[in-house]
Amino acid sequence: MIADVVIDRLIPGLDQSWSYKVPEELTVVVGQRVRIPFGKSESLGIVTSLREETDVDKNLLLKPILGVVEPYPLLSPWLVKLGLWMAQEYLCFPMQAYKAMIPRNVRLKPSSSQRAEEVCYVVGLSRTRGRKASRRQQLWELIQSEGSMLKRELLEKMPEMRTTLRELVKEGSVAVTYRERDTRPSLSPAQSYPSPHILNEEQSHAVEKIWTAPSGSKWLLEGITGSGKTEVYLQVIDRMIQGGLQVLVLVPEIALTPQTVLRFQNRFGNHVGLWHSSLTDSDRAKTWHAVRRGEVSIVVGVRSAIFLPFERLGLVVLDEEHEGTYKQEEHPRYHTRDVAFWLADHTGAKVILGSATPSLETAFYARQNLIGWIRMTRRIGHRTLPPVEIVDMRQELQEGNHSIFSRALQYELTRALNRQEQAILFLNRRGYASFVMCRDCGRAVQCPNCAVTLTYHQNLNQLMCHYCFFIMTLPKVCNHCGSHRIRYFGAGTERVVEEVQKLWPAARVLRADRDTLTSRQSYFQMYQDFMEQRADVLVGTQMIAKGMDFTHVSVVGIVAADVALHLPDFRRSERTFQLLVQASGRTGRGEDPGKVVVQAYEPEHFAIQSARSHSYDGFYQKEIEYRKELGYPPYGNLWLLEVTDTSDDRAQKTMARVADKVGILSTMGLQILGPAPAPVPKVRGRFRYHILLKGSRTPEMMAILSKIEHEELSCSITVDPYYML
Ligand code: ADP
Ligand code: ZN
Ligand code: ZN
Repeated sequence: MIADVVIDRLIPGLDQSWSYKVPEELTVVVGQRVRIPFGKSESLGIVTSLREETDVDKNLLLKPILGVVEPYPLLSPWLVKLGLWMAQEYLCFPMQAYKAMIPRNVRLKPSSSQRAEEVCYVVGLSRTRGRKASRRQQLWELIQSEGSMLKRELLEKMPEMRTTLRELVKEGSVAVTYRERDTRPSLSPAQSYPSPHILNEEQSHAVEKIWTAPSGSKWLLEGITGSGKTEVYLQVIDRMIQGGLQVLVLVPEIALTPQTVLRFQNRFGNHVGLWHSSLTDSDRAKTWHAVRRGEVSIVVGVRSAIFLPFERLGLVVLDEEHEGTYKQEEHPRYHTRDVAFWLADHTGAKVILGSATPSLETAFYARQNLIGWIRMTRRIGHRTLPPVEIVDMRQELQEGNHSIFSRALQYELTRALNRQEQAILFLNRRGYASFVMCRDCGRAVQCPNCAVTLTYHQNLNQLMCHYCFFIMTLPKVCNHCGSHRIRYFGAGTERVVEEVQKLWPAARVLRADRDTLTSRQSYFQMYQDFMEQRADVLVGTQMIAKGMDFTHVSVVGIVAADVALHLPDFRRSERTFQLLVQASGRTGRGEDPGKVVVQAYEPEHFAIQSARSHSYDGFYQKEIEYRKELGYPPYGNLWLLEVTDTSDDRAQKTMARVADKVGILSTMGLQILGPAPAPVPKVRGRFRYHILLKGSRTPEMMAILSKIEHEELSCSITVDPYYML
């Protein structure tokens, strides 16, 4: 038998897969971790395939596998395949994909002596000779034939083998590890769960459609905020787990969606496992094993949960599928939606993408009939979407209001506070890039080639386009209206809080941003405080825009709606529209329809106008035209090549080399932009340079990119990046 093994070493330019002989006495399966000789030393690897030995192999004098690390495969056969696919799709080493799938520490540590027991299993050949050999050989063969043995039972039966066992462990042919005792919690039927809602017509239509669809089908569930999408997931899931299938529910960020998580836990109790970034290594390992053994029916988790080793995956739900957190920005740079689609095609799991404001890509797939499309257009309980008032901040300024709050927003806030209702103020600010805007006409300085906003580089005192790297000096007057009032833009949450306290000294204000919400705990505290009306006004960034359901909020104010419109990002309109709609969705959940005030410097922009009428279609029509015209996704792809290095000189040299290697792509119809310094030219001590490629993917160009990725370790390549800064 020959095993192909992906090696746990990153060697630039070298093939990552090697063939080894499997010794007859050793049982090895696909997905198992093995010890292998590599060069003069020993290395670890993952078995990706097994085959019969051919004559060619015989002549190659292949080295043998030394032993296994665990007695079971770490990766199921389809995860092994997925890793190979990802390596091609996202230009990474297969091992980088596998590392994303295997928790850092798969060995379970005993949490308490009662719950864990020690197991012995064979990990390599017994190599001993001489007097003691027969005894060792005997024990080794016994353990091998059993697969694994509890250490306690083994020593009870054969106390004389204690030393021999220790010797086998020492020579590396047998390992002893902890395994949790089967402590699977049994669900007592007496436990009371909130009974499912009686579905309305739109919801039951959705559930039936998804339930009766063939396996492997993919769905966009497009439902306005409050239309009851979560209840649809819950009921499809209920049927799935009744049928013995496992379900994965992905949320953008666990900490930001306490309500969603609670709803799953309330409905399904201890069938639910959580998967998020603040789990300890041992919790992670526990959940991972529980999933592998089929003891967990439902996992609610963040994007990396997509790689959990489900055996009977029936459904993957991506809630708020438009969120940027579904894209991993480090190796392996996958998009969770693509991986979910791959799983649908290869495991037969169904996929539901849920959103009130789907990503352009998903909306496009639905309209092309590449995936199923279900729409829910009414809010539960005949509630209406709140009226949205758009305020032109240029006019406020002209009429002498210098406050960051328009008169309309001040009026609504005062009214809400007088009536003991709550308000949320959103500040749409992200990233560190600054841009320059005219305070009279609201325009930001744009790139003449790319229709994106130029980024201001303070150290150079210049504006730069981060798509085509066009550079210009800072203009003194606005080229639209001639005004001299050209400023950098930016007000932080702190500033907004101050302003609220100045205008409404009695109001109790909560601030929610990356600085104040550092843990899941602090987030939950904030959420509860606001839920239980211990605060009147919540001031936050877009991180609080999603998934929250507060019944006492009657006013939502968007302090500066167009900030995101000025980011150097082709998704900027999409993001702005999404934020406005999601934020508006935070009100009108009680009896009162509520009110939304959107403050903007460029209120005529279609993203803002479409949000006013809650019209996804209106927004989509305009945006997709723009994407088509400029060849942005879903009509074409972008690849961001980024070189980073602690030495600026080295970074530039590497970039020059990379530029040289991609040069040929221009003859294949790709547009090459750059190289140039990144919008944020230095991060954590590393200098950063970018090249952007635009065009359609072909196997030839992917091969060239893959070669670059494998040869230049300080160069990373991201397909359709989310953050271009
Ligand atoms: P979405 O996920 O689309 O924003 P939710 O599923 O959160 O909507 O539903 C909004 C609210 O309506 C929730 O409080 C939910 O419990 C409730 N709800 C959902 N479906 C029903 C139903 N069929 N009958 C009554 N209430 C429902
Ligand atoms: Zn102007
Ligand atoms: Zn440009």
